[in-house]
Amino acid sequence: MRYHNITKDDMKNGDGLRVCLWVAGCAHCCKECHNPQTWDPNGGLPFDEAAKQEIWEQLDKDYISGITFTGGDPLHYANVEAVTALAQEIKEKYPQKTVWLYSGSVWEDVINLPIMKYVDVLVDGEFELDKRDVTLMWKGSSNQRVIDVQESLKAPDEPPVIHCPDHYKVEDQAPDKLYEESAWTMKADCMCTA
Ligand code: SF4
Repeated sequence: MRYHNITKDDMKNGDGLRVCLWVAGCAHCCKECHNPQTWDPNGGLPFDEAAKQEIWEQLDKDYISGITFTGGDPLHYANVEAVTALAQEIKEKYPQKTVWLYSGSVWEDVINLPIMKYVDVLVDGEFELDKRDVTLMWKGSSNQRVIDVQESLKAPDEPPVIHCPDHYKVEDQAPDKLYEESAWTMKADCMCTA
C-alpha cells in the first residue's frame, strides 16, 4: 500500500479529532474529484513502519477519537488487504478508538468484506457532482451515506443504519472553515470526503 498523507487533529473527516490516512489508489474517477492525484495506486509513498509509528503516536493521545481511512479509496484492490490488517491491529491495540472509512463503493457491494468487522462508520458511494451539498455532514453529495457499520451488520438484509443526521446543526455550521480551498481539506467535498 502507498499513501499521500497522514493528517493530525483532523476535524473534517469524522467525529472528534482524528488521525487520517490518505491512501493512494482510486478507480472511481468521480467528476470534479478534488484529489485526482490520489487515483494512481503507484503514487505517494510506501506505507512503512515509520508511517505506522506516526499513526500509533496519534492514537496514543487521549484526545484523538480514532482513525479515518480515506484517499484515494481504502477499498481499492491495492489497499484493501493492508488497510484491513491495519484496522484489525488498531482495534486490538486501541479498542476504545473508532475507525471511519471513506469509499467510493456502496455498502451493498462491500458488506461482506472482512474489514467491515473493524469499521465503525463507513461513508459510502461516489461523489456525484449534481448532488453536491456543502451543508452535508461528513459527506460531499446527498447520494452518500454515513453508515453505522456494526449496527448495520446485525441486519444485513435491511437498509443500513445511518450514523448521524444528514446536515450539521445550524449553530455548528462554519462552511468557510469546513471547506477551505486546500487539496486535503477539500476531501470534505470529494466522496471520500471528497
Ligand atoms: S471523489 Fe473519492 S471516490 Fe471519487 S474519484 Fe475522488 S477519491 Fe475516488
